[in-house]
Amino acid sequence: MVGGGLAGLTVVHRLLNPGARLAAQGVDADGDAAPLNARVVLLERDDRLGGKILTESFDGFVVEAAADSFLARKPWARALAEELGLGDELVGSEPGWPRAFVRRAGALVPFPDGLTGLVPTKMGPLWTSGILSPLGCARVAMERWIPRRTSDRDETVASFVRRRFGSELYERLMQPLLGGLYGSSPEQLSIAATFPVLVQAERESGSVTRGLRVQARPESTGGPRPGAPFLSLRGGMGRLTEALEASIESAERLQILRGTTVESVRRTPEGWTIDIEGRSPLFVSAVVITTPAPLAARLLVEHEDLVAALRRIPFTSTSVVTAAYDSANFPRPLEGHGYLNPLSERRKVAGITWSSRKFAGRAPAGRVLLRGFIREPHLPPAGPEGDARLLETLAEELRDAVGLEAAPQWWRVFRWQNSMPGYTLGHLERVRMIEDRVEALPGLFLAGCSYGGVGIPDTVRSGEQAATRLMDHIATRRA
Ligand SMILES: Cc1cc2nc3c(=O)[nH]c(=O)nc-3n(C[C@H](O)[C@H](O)[C@H](O)COP(=O)(O)OP(=O)(O)OC[C@H]3O[C@@H](n4cnc5c(N)ncnc54)[C@H](O)[C@@H]3O)c2cc1C
Repeated sequence: MVGGGLAGLTVVHRLLNPGARLAAQGVDADGDAAPLNARVVLLERDDRLGGKILTESFDGFVVEAAADSFLARKPWARALAEELGLGDELVGSEPGWPRAFVRRAGALVPFPDGLTGLVPTKMGPLWTSGILSPLGCARVAMERWIPRRTSDRDETVASFVRRRFGSELYERLMQPLLGGLYGSSPEQLSIAATFPVLVQAERESGSVTRGLRVQARPESTGGPRPGAPFLSLRGGMGRLTEALEASIESAERLQILRGTTVESVRRTPEGWTIDIEGRSPLFVSAVVITTPAPLAARLLVEHEDLVAALRRIPFTSTSVVTAAYDSANFPRPLEGHGYLNPLSERRKVAGITWSSRKFAGRAPAGRVLLRGFIREPHLPPAGPEGDARLLETLAEELRDAVGLEAAPQWWRVFRWQNSMPGYTLGHLERVRMIEDRVEALPGLFLAGCSYGGVGIPDTVRSGEQAATRLMDHIATRRA
């Protein structure tokens, strides 16, 4: 196993505990769910496991270095947390409306209610929000009469939203929302890879709005959704990777090598050779690579076609600047969970989360914990000077948005170099190409956030799928 982030930990957990999900559901695990009867080695470059999931807790603060929550409507992360015994620690994002704001001509305007799958299905809240002009609202309302697209070719998110709902909705609402979620501009993102449900709605109903209404009916979704759109763990997302680590670390057949950098992964007639910096190589019958795609490409240099396809998944960098203040420092009470800046506002900060308002228990009483996201091209070089510039950028943003003049009580910068995969136009085609190449290399498996979904639930799912494929591979070899 190469990489001990969420995907790698999930693969190992599932290999060692294949029946645990069934057991957690009260089902007797039978022979099919027997754990892998082979030696497993987990190789992680860093001195800690968890990758892009990291929580630091001190003085009553729970500080997330990167991910702070996951989408409740995608079941895989929640199911894993429950299986690991974390069910009682699951917490929903704080209720109340408005949840989030978007900047419009410098002011913070509430996101309208009725956004389903990121497009408005209710016109009333959109009209009254003031985010769109009357003409922009009228264009959104016309969506149901816009003819269905005839081509099956992939399309960018920007083109899709403009074509169906008009430019204003795209620029004032969708661009800031999506720019925050994905590592690429919606002008490059693939609609088929990021929002297949919208493509399906248009294809099946001729209108996205109509299609989403059909999909949202209880009989077609299997029941109402739980209230909170985002879930986290009381002690932070790091609890998930800690629990995964705890579930595997005492397994006799597992060896965990932290601070161990894999240099290459080569195919041999007997299986695979893993070259490791400063150590003897490992000879294994199967290998799962869970690093981001460009790093997987570096390891697989001998497989040119695969490397070319992996390199075509772009990654961008981001910095999270988190800071704590006294609540009294803010001239007005804060509202919602935070806000996003559209590109048209020309801000260096993509958005701010009021962490202590989004989830209970993130800061002591009377304190505000917040974090700002700063992306390319506004990232100064790493080092204390660069960090100070990032803090200054955050301070300028907060001064401008909410009139905050005070200096923070403490602050921290987390830099995530080449951390956000961009599911750009043609992503699904690229992933199919990668899967075809990998299938031709028995004993090689890829997993992680680069392929079938950028967030935590999809990363968990990809780890579970890789574990299943690996166990099938081993069972076939033994048969
Ligand atoms: C700033 C930020 C905020 C985010 N917020 C959210 C959020 O709120 N909700 C959400 O759902 N998702 C969020 N995400 C995405 C989420 O964190 C990822 O989907 C998930 O953590 C990816 O896990 P992974 O195992 O695929 O990759 P990683 O966490 O990158 O793990 C890969 C591991 O491989 C190791 N590695 C790399 N090269 C080598 C090598 N040569 N040898 C050995 N080991 C190696 C790395 O050290 C790392 O530990 C966020 C991401 C970022 C960057």
